[in-house]
Parts: sequence; C-alpha cells; structure tokens
Amino acid sequence: MAKIVSLAKRRGFIFQSSEVYGGFGSCYDFGPLGVEMKNNIKQVWWEEMTKKQENIVGLDAAILMSPRVWQASGHLTAGFADLLVECKSCHKRFRVDELRDSPGTVPQKCPECGGQLTEPRKFNLMMKTLVGPVEEEAATAYLRAETCQGIYVNFENILNSMRLKIPFGVAQIGKAFRNEITPGDFIYRTREFEQMEMQWFCHPKEAKKYFDFWKKERLKWYLNLGIKKENLRIKEVPAKERPHYARQALDLEYKFPFGWREIEGIHNRGDWDLSNHSRFSGKDLRYVDEEKKEKYFPHIIETSGGADRSFLAFLIDVYTEIKGGRAKKASFLFPPSLSLGRTKTTKAAKEIEILLKLDKKIAPIKIAVLPLVRNKPKLVKKTKEVYQILKPHFTCQYDELGSIGRRYRRQDEIGTIFCLTCDFQTLKDNTLTIRERDTMKQERVKISDLTKILEEKLGK
Ligand code: ATP
Repeated sequence: MAKIVSLAKRRGFIFQSSEVYGGFGSCYDFGPLGVEMKNNIKQVWWEEMTKKQENIVGLDAAILMSPRVWQASGHLTAGFADLLVECKSCHKRFRVDELRDSPGTVPQKCPECGGQLTEPRKFNLMMKTLVGPVEEEAATAYLRAETCQGIYVNFENILNSMRLKIPFGVAQIGKAFRNEITPGDFIYRTREFEQMEMQWFCHPKEAKKYFDFWKKERLKWYLNLGIKKENLRIKEVPAKERPHYARQALDLEYKFPFGWREIEGIHNRGDWDLSNHSRFSGKDLRYVDEEKKEKYFPHIIETSGGADRSFLAFLIDVYTEIKGGRAKKASFLFPPSLSLGRTKTTKAAKEIEILLKLDKKIAPIKIAVLPLVRNKPKLVKKTKEVYQILKPHFTCQYDELGSIGRRYRRQDEIGTIFCLTCDFQTLKDNTLTIRERDTMKQERVKISDLTKILEEKLGK
C-alpha cells in the first residue's frame, strides 16, 4: 500500500486533503490524473448501466434532503449505527465487528494498549449540518449517507414522467457521507466518498431472479475492465450481518493488500424503502399494474458500488514492478532511429520500472506525444502540431523532458496506452512511431492516418 500511496501522490492521482494544514480526517483530493481516471470509471459505469442495459434511466438528486427521509429509511435510528467499544485508558474507539475473534463474543481488551474496553454502544454515522442561518433544531439536516434514498423518494416522479413499467431501474452517481469510526486504508474507507448505485424495481416474485442476474452482471463488469479473476470473490452476507434494510445481501470483495474487502454490495431491499416512505409521507407509493389489476410495493434490488473503492482496486490490480527494467530485455523491439537515449538509460534500467496496465477505457492519459529530442526546434514544432491534431479527440500529454527511454517509463508508470514519437524521419516523410504500452511494440504510421488509427485502437 505504501507504494501505491506514494505513486498516487507523486504522479498526481491522489493527494491528502488540506495537506498544507497537516491534512484533514481521512479526506482525499483527486489530482489531475486521478480526476481523469475517476471520471473514466464513472463514465464506463454510466454507459454500462444506462446505455447497455434495458430500461434503466438516470437521476442526479440533491445531497441535502428532508430529514424525514432519514427517519423513514431507518438511518437515524439504531439501524445505521455501528456497535462500538471505547478503551478506558487510551479512549480509542473500535467497531465490535472488527474486534471479534468469533461471532457472538464481545472483545475484552484494547488492541492498541491492552486497556479495558467499555460495553458496546451504538454510534450514528449520519453527518449533521445546519441549513439556514439560524442555529435551531428545525434547521438540522443530514448529508446523505447513501445516494439511493434520492431515487426512492423520486420513484413516483420518475415512473410518471418517463412512463415506465416494472421492471425498470434508476442509476445514480454521487457523493455520500458517513461519520465512519474507523476510516482508513487510504481511500478505501473515507468520510466523504462517491457511490455508483442502481436501483432495480421489480415484482416481488421476481426479486430473487433479478438478484442473481445483477450479481452476475456486476461481477462481469469488473472482470471486463481487467480486474484479475483471482482477486475478486463473492461473499454471501449471513442474516445477522446484513444491513437493516436487506433481505438478501452479498458483497463483491477485492483482494486488497490489507485483505479481502467489499467494493460493491448487492442487496435485495424488498419493500423496506417504498413502504416506509409511504408510511412516513402519507403518499401511496404502490405500483399499479393496470393489465394484471395488481397493486403492490415493488421490491428493490440494488447494486451499490463505490467509485473510490473501485478506483483503488483498479490501481492496485495493475500495479506491476519490473526489476531491471523492460526496455533492456526488449531492446530488439526498438528501431534504430530510437536507439538514441537508450544508451543513457542503462543505469536507469537497473532500477525498478513501474507499469500500470490499466484498461484503455480507464487509463487517465490515452496518448503521449513526444519529440525524440527537444533541442531541435523543427522537430519540436512538428511534434506540437501532432499534439494539437490529437488533443480534441483524446486525452493527451505532450512531454519533451528527459531521454526518450525515461519518458516512456514515465508514461508506463501512469498507464498511458500509446506513446507517439516524432523523429528525424518524421520531418522527411510525415510519419511517426506508435509504441504500445504493454508489448512495447512500435509501428510507423502516417500522421494523416493517425486519428483514424488511434480511434480504432482505442475502440472509440
Ligand atoms: P463497509 O462496511 O465496508 O465500510 P458498507 O457495507 O457500509 O461498507 P454499503 O453501505 O453497502 O457499504 O455501501 C455500498 C458501497 O459504497 C460500498 O461497497 C463501497 O464501495 C462504498 N462505500 C461505503 N462506505 C464507504 C466509505 N466510507 N468510503 C468509501 N466507500 C464507501
């Protein structure tokens, strides 16, 4: 993890929030490369859920909602509280479920200092805020702890405005906030995070069938984006560990360096949400099936993933160190025109090279445009022209600093799919080389064909 955290900071993926002030309670900022990569993850998810699947529409609900939403959902009561113990000596708090050796046992000693622990207590995870300038009880609101409640309270609006029929789904990506007791493991568990959720409304009799369907679909999504099969598993959640709203639950878990942990939850929420919102709001949120003459609360299957957790999983999964460097091993792949600069990399080649084999849809930078050397004005001018041609179509980077070998390694380290190099032949015949990240193979192509070729290669 230390290596991932260091790479993330060094190369502009993730910074600690408010770092100049010493940081702020497990909050993180996504840097220039991080925001590209996170946007890509969200984009691929959105396309998968709203474009490729049948009958799923989108929503972007407000973060602040009526506090009554959270009373109805059970989040303000014990249902959304973690059972905690506090050490009487060092006053650190721990989640009981994380300290238990075996189910049912209550931990006795503080894992940090060995001190005596208090009886377990509930601690609510909702973050409070004040809405309006007057500090009074009526103005208390909560930052949403899960994005899906915005979907449930809009169920009728969406149904009527879009003239939908059951079964259908609503997808949403947005920030959620939880006053986590044990945040940590970098961006794995933070107090502010982003969820990618889809709520599938179906007939109660079909809930089990769709639960299985979405389980398979979501697993496929991660695998298709390159997550290694052996690093992904499904954990059925036993009844006593399920969230308060779930009739059936499973966690998609990823094998992080700190252990197997959930990256997405799939839940059968039954009619918990719609029936409670009906009760609390006084509005009948049952679905009317005119054809079958049925009136019922649809059951909800939710797929609830985290943009931050999947970001971390994608990053860790492709992080590869190559001792001694790949360039040396594959020197036969370099055309003679590119041998310049390679001799200078001998020392560097002994170092460890980092390669991020990110999927082409997720990689933050798709193309790097590089002049072979930077002290030849004509070559630099030509390379910048190529960069300008490609910039409107792809996320590109222009880089002229350092030897060509070093620049290739810098790009490999951030997962750039293609490096384009303009050399002296480029000035003669308007061709350049395309170097592919994983194979390091190079091919020479005409600049006039470049956009089309790259579009094909990147599957645009
Ligand atoms: P955990 O107990 O592992 O923190 P959870 O079971 O409370 O998570 P859910 O309520 O099922 O999580 O939330 C769905 C998804 O939202 C999670 O799979 C995760 O990807 C994301 N998520 C939840 N809490 C956090 C958090 N504190 N930080 C980052 N992502 C989170």
